[in-house]
Amino acid sequence: MDFSRKLMVPPDKQIKLAKFDPADTLGYQNDKKIEAKLNKTIKRLDQLQDLLYAEKKRALLIVLQGMDAAGKDGTIRHVMSGVSPQGCSVKSFKVPNSQELAHDFLWRIHKAIPERGMIGIFNRSHYEDVLVVRVHKLVPKEVWKARYDEINRFERNLEENDVKILKFFLHISREEQEKRFQERLHDPRKKWKFSKSDAAERKLWDDYGTAYEAVLSRCSTEYAPWFIIPSDHKWLRNLAISRIIAETLEEFDMHYPKSPESS
Ligand code: AMP
Ligand code: MG
Repeated sequence: MDFSRKLMVPPDKQIKLAKFDPADTLGYQNDKKIEAKLNKTIKRLDQLQDLLYAEKKRALLIVLQGMDAAGKDGTIRHVMSGVSPQGCSVKSFKVPNSQELAHDFLWRIHKAIPERGMIGIFNRSHYEDVLVVRVHKLVPKEVWKARYDEINRFERNLEENDVKILKFFLHISREEQEKRFQERLHDPRKKWKFSKSDAAERKLWDDYGTAYEAVLSRCSTEYAPWFIIPSDHKWLRNLAISRIIAETLEEFDMHYPKSPESS
């Protein structure tokens, strides 16, 4: 299956999340065959990343967004498990510090963009500036409203400078989030992940849904597409994301430089 085509949000399409099933398995079953398919994709990603690194012609930026417990950390751990850490960077975006707040909202983002040859992963991103910021009214409405176009322009500029951007929305159901919160609360190895604010944020589920719908409807472009990943099943999430990354890198048609001189 062509996962990219199946899960990509077409540009300018009005998205209603209720129409997307977070527990969709796309016709697959979690069996030995799927495990083999995932392992094969992870191996292929390692080869593709090595080529990307050798060529140094382009960078790949992977943006991960989703509600709390949607699986951003888990995705990074599984999907990137095969690639060389040398060619990969991960940046988690938290509440901006005072220096970051003294700049425009894209300042800290631009500094973290991967260089040519690298895969960069964003755990949260500039989209927080139209998500948490919108939901909590951290800036006036006219400020966050202008940001969708600003983001599109910024991403187009990156694309024109050889940064390929893939944006994944990890779509989970409210029930699945509750289940994962309960696990976090009761598993001593997971408890640290639960923060008091998570419960408060959960009450704002619908507001976040509306904010995500605006992002997906306005900021999925040909040059930086969004993908809605059904994420209630972690195995399907991992398979879908790793396949989309592999499909994108395959399209680059990369070759090893012949000699150091010609690179
Ligand atoms: P976590 O990903 O669980 O470590 O939490 C990071 C927190 O930082 C989340 O609650 C985000 O909503 C918050 N955060 C990230 N970016 C921003 C931003 N630009 N403005 C306000 N809060 C943010
Ligand atoms: Mg959290």
